[in-house]
Order: sequence, then structure tokens, then C-alpha cells
Amino acid sequence: MQTQTEMFNRSKQLVPGGVHSPVRSFKGMNETPIFFKEASGAYITDTDNKKYIDFCMSFGPLILGHKNKTVQKELEKALDKGWSYGACEPYSLDLATFITNNISFIDQIRFVNSGTEAVMTALRLARGVTGKNKIIKFNGCYHGHVDSMLIKAGSGLAGTAEASSKGISDSVAKETLIFELGEIEGIKEAFKNNNDIAAIIIEPLPANNGLLIQDESYLNFLREITKENDTLLIFDEVISGFRMGMEGMSGLLGITPDIVTYGKVIGGGLPVGALAAKKNIMEHLAPTGEVYQAGTLSANPLAMVGGYSTLSQMTHEAYLKIEDNTRKIINIFSQWLENYNHGQFSHIKIISKGSLFWFTPTQEIKRACDIPQNLTESFKPLFSLLVGKGIYLAPNAYEVGFVSLAHDEEVSKDLEKRLWSK
Ligand SMILES: *Cc1c(COP(=O)(O)O)cnc(C)c1O
Repeated sequence: MQTQTEMFNRSKQLVPGGVHSPVRSFKGMNETPIFFKEASGAYITDTDNKKYIDFCMSFGPLILGHKNKTVQKELEKALDKGWSYGACEPYSLDLATFITNNISFIDQIRFVNSGTEAVMTALRLARGVTGKNKIIKFNGCYHGHVDSMLIKAGSGLAGTAEASSKGISDSVAKETLIFELGEIEGIKEAFKNNNDIAAIIIEPLPANNGLLIQDESYLNFLREITKENDTLLIFDEVISGFRMGMEGMSGLLGITPDIVTYGKVIGGGLPVGALAAKKNIMEHLAPTGEVYQAGTLSANPLAMVGGYSTLSQMTHEAYLKIEDNTRKIINIFSQWLENYNHGQFSHIKIISKGSLFWFTPTQEIKRACDIPQNLTESFKPLFSLLVGKGIYLAPNAYEVGFVSLAHDEEVSKDLEKRLWSK
């Protein structure tokens, strides 16, 4: 087999930057990306046969761990029947039934192939339902690579926005208003000056730019102000959905969004996204309604089986167990950060919610603009040391860590051993 460096060089010839998604590039980490060849449970193995404890977990979908036995068996059975019909089939019916039975505030769901697609459709649906155009989003919330969501704060008035990527037309950028998380007055002002706001979109647990845990009262404020203004509230639960309990953050907080988007855990590691809402909203989608949306591979039977066989294992006990796993892991990391090598990393803390965690040199913060500028610099030595010890994290200081059901007692003992080894 080729060395990792050889593979990366070959990949760079064939693929921009050698990667199919920029966050895989190890940019800023001063290292070449690791090529992984297989994984099982809480562990992932690279092409040099080095085995790591995995806290990236494919960026979240693998809530049961890698290569869960039941999921594997169900996928093998499904594979034996063929893997795409482009027609109605029973597999998506099973998953849709399971989800709508378990999530009290939705009646209908539509499956797509990614979180990005789910958000794109949710925004179009919100515009179609309200007949309005503008969308409010928050700095530090990620909603996939939808044009109108690749937006950062502009240099002009509060709420003005500009594209954070090239290739986005000014007219699209102008349809998005952007605010800091926690902003109240500016949002009230926006509604006063503007009768054209179709939706507010937020990650109810922002977890793509650090872990910025929001006050329940703030999410309630967004619920109220959208209701008062005939604007829809979209909760992007692509990370938090089916992770912070079966009903996600919406269920945890008892705040009902008008539209919710899912991804990641919903497919258990296969490509699935979804949007869901009450019937009176969902029926605006084609073919019942006039908001168009479609997909050749939507509700792909294999992906549906992956999702169903994953979610159906997430019992109440499973959620308790995964949080218990997380508590143990956080304790071990915290002790180590505090004391390792005369406190070399004692300035770094670990913030956690449910089965997510984030290494940060700050106190618990709620706004992206409060994240220290030197975050990457302070994370880099920690990342390198951990990778050396066979502990894999997402190669980016702004990404959270993911714990799975497979990160059990034995894995936490192994983590402790690896952390303290010379
Ligand atoms: C990951 C993510 C997305 C994008 O999902 P993809 O499947 O990567 O397109 C959108 N929103 C949130 C909150 C996410 O975490």
C-alpha cells in the first residue's frame, strides 16, 4: 500500500486540495490528512494500521458507533434486494412512520440526501408558504452550503450581510439578514422596518462553530416574534436532531419550530437529510403544493434502512447511556487537561452538552464573535499530541467532538491510558 503522503499527493492531483469536503483537509493543523481504511465501534484505523479512538465519528451520524452489528445486518439484507427503484417502496414508509410517531410536533416528513438539501428546501418552503423573501440567520450557525446561507456580517448597518464565499450573487446575499446569537433589539427593529421576512433559521444548539449553548429564553423570544409577524421559525437540527434525545432540542426545550431540518444521525451514516413540519405546511411541497422539490435518489432504500435500523435502537436507555459515556470521557479529558505535563493545556477547558463536547480556551460563551481569534493556534498542539496518542478529533478547532454508544467504559479506560502514556 502507498504511504499516507503518497496518497495525499495523488489525491491533490485528482481532487481540489485532495479532499471532497474542506473540513477534511487538516488546513491550519500543519499535518497531512490521515487516510482511514476501516472502523468498528469507537475505533478507526488508518492505512498504516494505526488504531485511534474516534471522536469525529463521521461528524456526527454514527451515534451507535462504527459498523454497528444490527445496522450492518439490516443493510446486508437490504442490499440483497437491490438498492434503488426511483419509486414508492416500504422502507421510507417504515422510517417516516417511526419518526412521526416519535416526534410529537410533526405530521409529515420529506427525505432528501443531505442536510444542505434539507435546509435549501426548508427555506424555499418558508418563502412559498409566507409569500415573503428575506431570511434571518445567525453568525456562527452553519446550515450547509446553500447559497443564501453562506453569508457573513457586512461592514454596513447591523443586519446587513455579504457572501462568505465567492460565487454567490449580490441579489441572493441581500435576501439574508444576519445577526449575532442573542440579539434582540436588532431583530425587533428588523421586523419593524420590514414586512418581508419569511423565516428565522437557527441551530437551536449551535454546534458547528464551537458549542454555543443558547438560553431557552432566547429561543422562546424567536418563537414569539416569528409568530407575531407571520414568519416561520426553522430549527436546523441536523446535528442536534436524534442526538439530544429522540425529539432533539425542540423536544428537550418544548419549543416547537414551524419547520425542522434533519441530517447526520437520521441516516446513521448513510446519506439522508429530511425536513418535517405540520401537514398544513408540508402540503405546500410538490406534488400536493406549488413549492417544487425532487430527488432521483431521495429516500434511497439502503439509506432508509440505515436510518431506521439506527434510530430504532435509540431507546430512552440508549440516550441515558450515551450521556453517561460522555460524562466519563469529559471527566477523563478534564483531569488530563488540568494536570498533563505541568499544566501545559490547563488553559483549555471542555464544554459539553448531551453527547457533544468542545475544547475551548474560553468560558462558556453564546456568540461566535466571542470566540478568541487565536483558537486554531491554541488547538493545534493539542490536536497533534492527541493524534500522536491515537485519539482522533475533527481536524479543526471549531468542530465539536462526538461521543457514541460504543464509547463505553472500556473505551474511556483506554482513553485514560492513551492520554497519560509517554
Ligand atoms: C452538517 C450540517 C448541515 C449540512 O449537512 P450536510 O449533510 O453536510 O449537507 C446543515 N446544518 C447543520 C446544523 C449541520 O450540522
